[in-house]
Amino acid sequence: MATIGVLALQGGFAEHLGLLKRAADHLSAGAQQPAIHLTEVRTPEQLAACDALILPGGESTTLSLVAAQSGLLEPLRNFVKVSKKPVWGTCAGLILLCEEASATKRGGQELIGGLDVKVHRNHFGRQLQSFVHDIDLPFLKQGGSTEKQTPFPAVFIRAPVVDKMLEQQRRQTDTPRPAIEILARYPSTGEGDNIVALRQGNVFGTSFHPELTDDVRIHVWWLDQVIKATREN
Ligand code: GLN
Repeated sequence: MATIGVLALQGGFAEHLGLLKRAADHLSAGAQQPAIHLTEVRTPEQLAACDALILPGGESTTLSLVAAQSGLLEPLRNFVKVSKKPVWGTCAGLILLCEEASATKRGGQELIGGLDVKVHRNHFGRQLQSFVHDIDLPFLKQGGSTEKQTPFPAVFIRAPVVDKMLEQQRRQTDTPRPAIEILARYPSTGEGDNIVALRQGNVFGTSFHPELTDDVRIHVWWLDQVIKATREN
């Protein structure tokens, strides 16, 4: 059995659980799959029972404060960096999974880290500048299919972008780190500081909100990766 948790301290955790449920049903209709148990995570004990975790969107400063108050910050860092279990952060969740975040007027915040990048919070502006845009996500293409993928409706709400890769020396580690895979950029698809989906080893992040759409493809893709990873361990 695979236990998939969603951090349920603040933000869009219920929406993630809804899409995870649909993704699990979709996968179990196919090949032989392990039973998938979905659970909300609010305590270190609940986290310890998980094989993988989603950090939802919301407000990253609040999320990190409540995580600290709940005694979850260190267990979350261990989950990501020591146990190296699969984690996916959306929007505020992505911010928490970056090693550095741009300072805000009110100062910094405690991060969990795991992605060797710097993230720029509220890159596209305030709530009123929120928008939905169709973006191509070639990584969703399964099994070398040459069929053109339908674009994904990406919901950006006070969304961050990743705007800097951190140098190995700045990461203060001698251990080789997995490569950073850039999975999507917006608004341009060329080189630049506009990364909106990326993966580094066990850590996956999107600056938009797939859980606020009806499109289950990213949840299916991630859950499939999680099941493969739990089988290998
Ligand atoms: N801008 C928010 C933050 O800094 C994230 C917004 C979101 O998760 N929709 O935490």
